[in-house]
Amino acid sequence: MSKNNFKFSILGNPNSGKSAVFNLITGLNQKVSNYPGITVEKHSSLISLENKNISIDDYPGTYSTKSQSIDEAAVRDTVFKWIESKELRPDGIIYVADITNLRRNLYFFSQLLPLNIPIILLLNMSDLINPADILSIEKLKKEFKIFDIISFSALKKQGLKELRRSMVDLLSNESKSKNTFLSLSSENRKLLKPIIGILKKSIDASKEVIEDLSLSIFSSESFCKSSFFSNSIKDKVLKERKNILSKISTNMSKTINTLESDLRYGFIDEILFNSNFKEKNQIEDKTKSEKIDKFLTHPVFGPFLYIGILYFIFQSIFTFASIPMDFIDGIVSSFGNFVYDSLPNSLFRDLIVDGIIAGVGGIVIFLPQIIILMLFMIVLEDTGYMTRVTFMTDKYMRMIGLHGKSILPIMSGYACAIPGIISSRTIDSWKERLVTILVLPLISCSARLPVYVLMISAFIPQIYIYDFIGLQGFVMVCMYFLGTITAFILAKVFSKFLSEKSNPSFIMEIPPYRLPILKSVLKQLINRSKLFLVNAGKIIMLISIILWFLVSFPKHNGESVSIKDSYAGKVGQLIEPVIKPLGFDWKIGIGLITSFAAREVVVSTLSTIYNVEDDGENMVNLKEAMKNDINPETGKNVFTPLVAISIMVFYVYAAQCVATFAIVKTETNTWKWPIFMIAYMTLLAYVMSFLVYNFGRYFGYS
Ligand code: GDP
Repeated sequence: MSKNNFKFSILGNPNSGKSAVFNLITGLNQKVSNYPGITVEKHSSLISLENKNISIDDYPGTYSTKSQSIDEAAVRDTVFKWIESKELRPDGIIYVADITNLRRNLYFFSQLLPLNIPIILLLNMSDLINPADILSIEKLKKEFKIFDIISFSALKKQGLKELRRSMVDLLSNESKSKNTFLSLSSENRKLLKPIIGILKKSIDASKEVIEDLSLSIFSSESFCKSSFFSNSIKDKVLKERKNILSKISTNMSKTINTLESDLRYGFIDEILFNSNFKEKNQIEDKTKSEKIDKFLTHPVFGPFLYIGILYFIFQSIFTFASIPMDFIDGIVSSFGNFVYDSLPNSLFRDLIVDGIIAGVGGIVIFLPQIIILMLFMIVLEDTGYMTRVTFMTDKYMRMIGLHGKSILPIMSGYACAIPGIISSRTIDSWKERLVTILVLPLISCSARLPVYVLMISAFIPQIYIYDFIGLQGFVMVCMYFLGTITAFILAKVFSKFLSEKSNPSFIMEIPPYRLPILKSVLKQLINRSKLFLVNAGKIIMLISIILWFLVSFPKHNGESVSIKDSYAGKVGQLIEPVIKPLGFDWKIGIGLITSFAAREVVVSTLSTIYNVEDDGENMVNLKEAMKNDINPETGKNVFTPLVAISIMVFYVYAAQCVATFAIVKTETNTWKWPIFMIAYMTLLAYVMSFLVYNFGRYFGYS
């Protein structure tokens, strides 16, 4: 029986239009998952062409197998798998090259040629430059001896029919000619002989694959270390490498690092030359972008524009998200009420309504913020503006151990840490991404606002310093400032302690400005939202159920006891001695526990504890109740301005947001980092509150 299930892989440089091509070929039915062990999105889809079932995998964009950001490492490891095993290779590769930057795009391409997998080369963006105007496609095809070359435009949907035809032909075609690849000169072969010898014994691969691999390994020690070989083989190879280097002249050893790229570009240039390639139109595309850049990345005007864009984005998050958030909130509570009314009074009903529906609501409510921020991020990315911003801000962000790309995630933290953490995916260096994630929750998010508002309006007097600075507003600004400045200091500290996993000297190229393709943007948006809902959802749900249990149990004769006698209340009383030095009593202790789900929950918890009637004016009543609460032991007020400040400082730092930690777990793929965050933030909260409260008392406040 002849084979009927086939596999194609889409590869290419970042921004070459791979996603757009993938979307065109596959339509809507794609599956997004993560690569095993890392949080790099893997897109795959199943299509049917002339009764052939074809699975299509889209890979992250990469410039070469040597690039080391986590996205690109996923591609490198895939190529390694193909080297190791013929069975794992796809039936064909669709290589998407940006015709406006062809030479550069052919670099990674040249690394794939020795594998001898049939390749269809798409010369994408043909709407910008007609490939036939700058080279002879026929000649290029003859030179590379690859399966097919198609002039393509994902934007104008040109070349799709030809691509489908070519894919079917590729699968039906038995006689596959051998790709042309970079072959070593006899001199270089002699130089690399010891390494070639070791590799030959270690893997079952063709001569050309081994020679190509030995060239890459020889020109980069870190590439060798990241390869799939066992440690003993790596050691042997590295020893031989040292040996070779010690024998060659110092003059020549200087060129070793660039040996691979020199040879590859030499190979590419020769083929392009033989195909009558001329770069003329590339210049046009470039100058257009340069003209726009004169304006957008102007040394003085550029940063202002960027700040303006950031301001617009956050303002949009605050303004536009609140409507759908209220809407979702409304739907969730009406649905909860509906279920509450339809089910008989039982534990099961409470679990469904207060545990599960409330838990799910707690996740879905973040969606509008995430979607709005993501939409801006994707558009800024796809137009090419984000790369420029990264260059502009990189210098300053690096001073505090972050990256130019950290600025948007950090800023979005003022609205909500979650979309910020998700958007940190664009940071290539793992270390800088991790540091960004670790300090992001210190930025005061909108969930802290209700806590600040309650405490300030109840306990900070409405007076003015020097007649014009309102004390209440000043305290609020201090809270925001405290979080931000600590985030910056800790970013510096963390980046000192974390070792770099990836190569810091990665290459980034400024792409020309392009109009985003709507379908592409929407698809990315849907995928990210899905990943968030599913991944974080599972964890949030579990913790919501646990918290529900703590608040609703034990039962007394089947009836709920007061919150003071619940497990949560008991824990609150249990921890009272620990939190007393911060000025907190057991009631605040319960609030601290319940607000582990989300910070603003402390307000409703305090309302519940004080048995305030929920008559729509509960804030006023709660404030009064808090003001009048007297500690029976000391006869003094439970809440004072000093206690209120201590509470706010605690909330600036404390780790209280299940959703954040759930998303950190899914983004870092380990519990190690969320646990570390919870630990350091709690410690920080405790120490800072302690200092504030005790300094305050020392200076005579109570
Ligand atoms: P990827 O990073 O390789 O997946 O690239 P994308 O598919 O995200 O595309 C990068 C940018 O190029 C986006 O702004 C696309 O809208 C744009 N783009 C993709 N294909 C074409 C094309 O054929 N013509 C033009 N003019 N733009 C394109």
